[in-house]
Amino acid sequence: MKGLSKVERNFKEALKNRDFHVWYQPQIDMRTGSPRGGEALVRWQRGDGALIPPDRFVPALEKVGLMPFLDEEVVRLVCKDVCEAKQRGFLFGPVSVNLSRLHAGREGSSDRIRKVTAYYGIQPGELSFEITETAEKEKDETGLMEFAGQLQKEGYRIAMDDYGTGNSTLKLLQEIRFDILKLDRHFVSRIGEPRADIILASTIDMAGRLGMEVVAEGVETEEQIRFLVENQCYLGQGYYYSRPLTKEQYIRWRGQI
Ligand code: C2E
Ligand code: MG
Ligand code: MG
Repeated sequence: MKGLSKVERNFKEALKNRDFHVWYQPQIDMRTGSPRGGEALVRWQRGDGALIPPDRFVPALEKVGLMPFLDEEVVRLVCKDVCEAKQRGFLFGPVSVNLSRLHAGREGSSDRIRKVTAYYGIQPGELSFEITETAEKEKDETGLMEFAGQLQKEGYRIAMDDYGTGNSTLKLLQEIRFDILKLDRHFVSRIGEPRADIILASTIDMAGRLGMEVVAEGVETEEQIRFLVENQCYLGQGYYYSRPLTKEQYIRWRGQI
């Protein structure tokens, strides 16, 4: 592996050793408290057992263009988990999977996703995809439109992740028919402040009028839940309900009535 950077070497090694794992954060219907599925979140388990959160390696992998390879591994792991849970007779999905914006304009991304979902017999309603706003340099909107369109043609729902934090999100909303809008936790954490309340209430209203479902991230308090439900945002995830869980913990949670 001569000529590779340290990041690339470590990444290839970790892929080979199957050091990446997927945890699942529950998503809840905040009106009733009932389970609605989960978001897949990647974790890197180092050789010494330490679990590294994505904020510590996603930006570096994005920078060198490797994040789409990790996303493909995550899609594979999620499809495998969904398939195995079904075989064991457990409820699991729908699961939303994060995809870097670097997939836009990249050859073959949607084909590889199609192949792996077909291999594991995944139905479109069992998976959705969240397009993250993290890739600084990638602003290929045409490529992103095509990529999102290809997945939507397969029947998958597409979410705009971290809404409100990127610098071209309104423009993207104009161009791409996202099915789901995920309100960034920065705004949710400011509920109760007059300006934040106006921004959130208008955003939820706008999303509804554009035919999108809204999911609130980072829900931590009852006051936030009350505000969100009153303003017609019904789906939420956050530490108030649950932190991300291992697959087996998630299966136990998902199965509750
Ligand atoms: P995200 O997609 O916005 O995921 C939500 C993040 O917020 C998760 O952090 C989750 O643990 C955290 N979170 C959830 N509820 C709360 C809460 O109530 N309070 C607070 N303070 N935080 C909460 P995590 O797992 O560290 O992931 C960070 C980011 O890394 C993700 O943000 C996503 O952008 C990226 N990421 C994770 N997995 C993948 C992946 O497989 N592919 C790609 N491309 N990006 C990923
Ligand atoms: Mg996400
Ligand atoms: Mg997010």
